[in-house]
Formats: sequence, C-alpha cells, structure tokens
Amino acid sequence: MKVIVIGGGPAGCAAAYTLGKQGHEVMLFEAADKVGGRTKQLHRDGFNLGTGALFLMGGIYPRTFALLRELGVADKVVPWAGAAELQDNDDARYRVSFVNLLSYLKIPTLTFGDRLKIASAGLRLLLSRQAANPFDSADLARYDTKEDLESWSRRNLGDRAHEYIVRPIMDFLYAVPASWLSLPFPLSIIKQANKMALSVPPEGIGQVSEWLVAGARNTTVRLATAVDEVERRGERYAVFAGGEWHEADGLVLATESFVAARLMAGFIDQRVYTTLMETPYTEYAHVQIGYAKNPWPNYPVDIVMPVGYGETRNIGAMVLQSRRHPGSVPPGGEAVGVYFNTPPLAHLSDDDIRREAVEGAMRAFGPAPEPSFVHLFRYEKGLTIAGPGHYERLEAIYDKMPPRVCLAGDYFSQAGVEAAVFSGERAALKLDGALNGTAPKKRSAATMDLLPS
Ligand SMILES: Cc1cc2nc3c(=O)[nH]c(=O)nc-3n(C[C@H](O)[C@H](O)[C@H](O)COP(=O)(O)OP(=O)(O)OC[C@H]3O[C@@H](n4cnc5c(N)ncnc54)[C@H](O)[C@@H]3O)c2cc1C
Repeated sequence: MKVIVIGGGPAGCAAAYTLGKQGHEVMLFEAADKVGGRTKQLHRDGFNLGTGALFLMGGIYPRTFALLRELGVADKVVPWAGAAELQDNDDARYRVSFVNLLSYLKIPTLTFGDRLKIASAGLRLLLSRQAANPFDSADLARYDTKEDLESWSRRNLGDRAHEYIVRPIMDFLYAVPASWLSLPFPLSIIKQANKMALSVPPEGIGQVSEWLVAGARNTTVRLATAVDEVERRGERYAVFAGGEWHEADGLVLATESFVAARLMAGFIDQRVYTTLMETPYTEYAHVQIGYAKNPWPNYPVDIVMPVGYGETRNIGAMVLQSRRHPGSVPPGGEAVGVYFNTPPLAHLSDDDIRREAVEGAMRAFGPAPEPSFVHLFRYEKGLTIAGPGHYERLEAIYDKMPPRVCLAGDYFSQAGVEAAVFSGERAALKLDGALNGTAPKKRSAATMDLLPS
C-alpha cells in the first residue's frame, strides 16, 4: 500500500522505517533540507553544533537502541560519562555524576535527616507501581494522580533535596519549573535509573534519523518539501507538497502537534483539533560558544549546573561539547553549550542571552579569551511539556483519528528522542494494521508487546 509520512524528525523517520519494513511504499516529506527535526546538527567554522538534542539515555531508550541494533549501528554510538558539578550561589562546587542519582546523596549541603528522607522515599518508590514504559501515554495516563513533580518532591524528599537534586536535573532536562511537570514520567524514569547511560552518535544526535532513513526499505525521502495541505478523498488521502498533489492509502503525521492540527483541520473533529492545538510547547534557548583554542583543556568535569537555595536562575546547565561529543569541535578547539531555563526567556533579548551565556561559561569554567563565535538557538516552541492531565488528554484523541491516519511525535509522552521513536513505531504499526484489515490491539500498559523486539 502507498503511505505518506509528514515530518522527518526521529518520530517520522522511525515511522517511515517501520512502514517500509512492513512492505509499504513510503513517501516521507520533510520541510527542512535534512532529516532530524529538533535533533539536527549545524556545521559552522569547523564545529558540528547540536541545534537541539544532546544525548541518548541508554537502557531508558530501548526502542531507539533496538532500531539502531537492527540497522547494525548501535556499537558506533559513543558513551559519555556525564561527569558534573553543581555550582552553588557562593560558588561552592559539589561533584556528582549526572546519571547516577546516588552520587547526589554526597552533596554536603544535605543534612543526615535529608538523606534519611531521600532514602526512605527512594525505597517507597522502588516498591511502588509506576508506569512500566515512560514513553507510552496510555501507561502514563494510568499513573497520573494530577499532582505535579515539585509538590511531590518537596513533600517526599524535602526542600533541600528538591533544590539540590530534583531542580538542577529537571532544569537541565526540561528547562521548566518542576511544578509544570506531571509525575508519572519522572517517577517511572527514577525507577529505571539503573539503566541510565548517556551516549551520542559520532556525527551527533541527528544521525539517528539519518541512519533510520538510510536503512528504510521502499522509502522515498523528499527533503525541503513542506506539506501545505492534506485532503480526504473518499477512502484515500491527498497531500499537497512541492507544488503537486500526492495520493496515498494512509498517513502518518509526525510534525509538531499544532502543525498536524492545522493540516488535518478539514477532516478531524473539533476535540482532536483543539487538543492538538493546545498541547503545550515551551520557549527554549541555548547558546553554543566556539573557541578555536580550548581555554579549559584540563577542567575536571563536563557539565556545570548552577544551583542555589530558592534562587531564580537563568541558566540550567553548561556543557563542554568536546567531552559530550568529541567530533563536535575541530582539533584543539572547544565549544560550550549554555542551556537556558524557560521562565526568564520572556524577559531576555537575544543579546542578553548571548552575554549571559559567555559570562556564565567563564564563571563556570574559568577565564577565556574572546570566543570565535557565539551562536544563539532560540525556539518559540522548543520543548513539549507534559503537565498533570496531559497523557489522558492525548490518549482521548488517539483513537478518534480518521481511518488510516495516525499521529506520531514526542508530545505524546515527554520531549525526547525515545518518545519520538516509540510514537513513530507505534503509529506505523497501527497504520499497518488498519491497511491490512487486522483488528488493532487495544493499547495497554503492554504497548511494547506490539513492537518487535
Ligand atoms: C534544545 C533541545 C535539547 C534537547 N535535548 C534532548 C536530549 O538531550 N535528548 C533527547 O532525547 N531529546 C532532546 N530534545 C528533544 C528532542 O529533540 C525531541 O524530542 C525530538 O526531536 C522530537 O522528535 P519529533 O520527530 O517528534 O519532532 P521534531 O524533531 O520536531 O520533528 C518534526 C519534523 O517535522 C517537520 N515538519 C514540520 N512541519 C512540516 C510540514 N508541514 N511538512 C513537512 N515537514 C514538516 C519539521 O521540519 C521537523 O523536521 C531536545 C530538544 C531541544 C529543542
């Protein structure tokens, strides 16, 4: 059957790869001149800069790695230890490992009582039931008590643990206050924290999408070809892209949710349209500062995360890119990625952000000469954020889509490559079932059963 995938981020590329594997004739349309979406790389002055995503998370990303293994490229991915330090208001530094939660227990600002509280909350969490799959909105919806992460963490771990553990990790990962985030995703991840490991493909995270389309069977990729309109024509669908109409038996829309809503406005019900339009994306900014000669070759850690009891902070984390992704800098050079928190952005001009980034990097790593460049990436709609009630809302529309039209995108779960890949595979398998007339399985906590191992 002929199918069209709209959007070539990790979700669309995983969908195209899976549909191709099922024997369909696939056409993938991507508006940009390369695949990858918010994981793309930008080449500048010999640097290979991440425009968005920084790392994959090992065993927490099972579907991403399963596909990379199928493609025979999983062993090319380069591990990253993620050695980090917290930088307190008074500039005191506390060494932690970004991926090892136990390392945070050594932070000297925590009292014996704090540690006891954390240990007891940790034990209760390990014994509790949480979503088995943190990227399946059906599973997450079941565990959504409508409490937000900040309220849970202050209540269970205490204020100091919230400020010195939960807040810095979440600032770096999602750049928004923990009060904006729902609970099931972080709790499910914490339960699986032993599987956490960071890594980066040799050419950057965008390579995941490139590998997927390179290995996709029966697939034509049309780059720099945005889809402008979608129509329902009887049992089929037609897509207007690149100045012509293309017909197909089924569609996967793997764009941002609001783009999908606009493209389908003519043939979806109002509730689906409104839910997709209202799915929240937050503003996001990061700055890549390039140095032809590395000013800090011997700095002992790769990530510095500002902390401070109750303080507002503009910067969530600063990362030495040559450590995270060795191929990202020319020989002898260094780049620092400075990742901003969302709430202050509304009050910061582009120049403010660039200036704060350079000052922040020097406070974190030490003095440095004038950089070769200061590149700002600023997205009006950068990250999708799942607050309390999010998964239930998304689940409610999943099965209300028109026949043989499936949605994919990280917004079903919580922003991340695995969320995108999982949703892409899931949409492809659902569409394949619909095209073959096989009854779709009821989605459940065991959605992973639908997916090939
Ligand atoms: C700064 C930043 C840091 C991040 N860090 C990480 C990280 O470290 N690890 C991690 O796992 N994730 C990270 N993420 C999140 C990750 O990048 C996203 O979760 C992922 O890219 C989502 O994939 P997607 O395919 O759902 O959407 P996208 O990547 O947004 O892809 C959507 C695609 O659809 C295309 N499109 C849109 N409209 C049309 C149209 N009309 N026609 C054709 N094509 C269209 C777009 O051009 C885009 O390529 C980060 C994101 C940002 C912004």
